[in-house]
Amino acid sequence: MKGKVIAIANQKGGCAKTTTAVNLAAALTRYGKKVAIIDADPQGSCTASLGYVQPDDLKVTLANIMTDIVNEEGIDLGEGILHHKEGMDLIPANIELAGLEVALINVMSRELILKAYVEEIRYYYDYILIDCMPSLGMLTINALVAADSVIIPVQTSYLPVKGLEQLLSTISKVRRQLNKHLKVEGILLTMVDMRTVYTRDMIVKVHEIYGQDPKVGTFAGYIPRSVRAEETCSEGVSIFKYRPDCKIARAYLGVAKEVLDHDAEEETRGED
Ligand code: ADP
Ligand code: MG
Repeated sequence: MKGKVIAIANQKGGCAKTTTAVNLAAALTRYGKKVAIIDADPQGSCTASLGYVQPDDLKVTLANIMTDIVNEEGIDLGEGILHHKEGMDLIPANIELAGLEVALINVMSRELILKAYVEEIRYYYDYILIDCMPSLGMLTINALVAADSVIIPVQTSYLPVKGLEQLLSTISKVRRQLNKHLKVEGILLTMVDMRTVYTRDMIVKVHEIYGQDPKVGTFAGYIPRSVRAEETCSEGVSIFKYRPDCKIARAYLGVAKEVLDHDAEEETRGED
């Protein structure tokens, strides 16, 4: 078994990267998959929203693991991995990751550090989701190099076309220089409020521009705006534990199903 690695990236903050990482991981777990989330954001929001509310008190985090790899020290694979009660695992992060990102500047093969770790642990999981930080810096590049594909959450109330183009161009660059197999899983529209004409127009536009582009693509489903999503963050659990019947839970189950379908399609194509 060799799990699939999906980075959840967008250099814009607040577009639901972390919310997507947590709830997609929980949804895939509900489909019977073994899932790990890597928190690759020094803010540790993913770590905190899974209930580890004081990330800075954690002894072993992604920063220590990556530092050991940089120093060519052997890593104990299980070390630092937290087991969430909903079944998924978490490799947590805290502010120390910010220092590590700065230190990477002087490191040989600095883009490949996270990949070295992911290649070791991917045999234990069906899916590894990487929750990226809001920048296109070295940690995000590390995530894109370690990943098989990228999910790009985009907030519908604000389509930063320029930002999106910049992200897509970074992905192309990573593909050309460092990870030729990197795919875009799709743009995922988040915080969608269907009551506004602007949003409805924008959904059509995004599907027109990016849905038809074989190098990008869009998810057929979208994530509606709901206060349930915000409330969940402080509960330390996913939406499935907090409000399993709400529309956000249904939406993320749909996204998980689309991810599973993409993989089934790819497998069939591989067999041809
Ligand atoms: P990012 O990781 O991209 O910075 P977050 O996942 O932290 O974004 O989300 C930013 C904020 O928006 C959080 O307060 C989160 O609770 C809220 N949020 C996320 N998804 C939704 C949604 N579908 N509806 C309403 N609020 C949401
Ligand atoms: Mg985040």
